[in-house]
Amino acid sequence: MKDTQREILEWVERTFGPVTTSERALMLAEETGEVCRCVVKTQQGVRPSTRSNLPDELADVGIVLLCFAEYVGIDLETEIKRRFEEAQQREYERDE
Ligand SMILES: [Mg+2]
Repeated sequence: MKDTQREILEWVERTFGPVTTSERALMLAEETGEVCRCVVKTQQGVRPSTRSNLPDELADVGIVLLCFAEYVGIDLETEIKRRFEEAQQREYERDE
């Protein structure tokens, strides 16, 4: 995944020029909002064309997230594994 992060960041910088950290955070929120819109439209049973975009929108979140991570020098795969291991060690209670 580290190679993919680097490839995406290089492409984005070549194609769009410099992007600030704040702009990257906003882009991530924007793409996440688009995922939410797909889910809402599916639950509402409206706009079939929007609903079918869920794979695209999830992929957009992944692209922006990987690019952001590379920009700030984070190996996202390593961090995800570390956080997942932490999550697996926690005790969770569920309401039954
Ligand atoms: Mg999108």
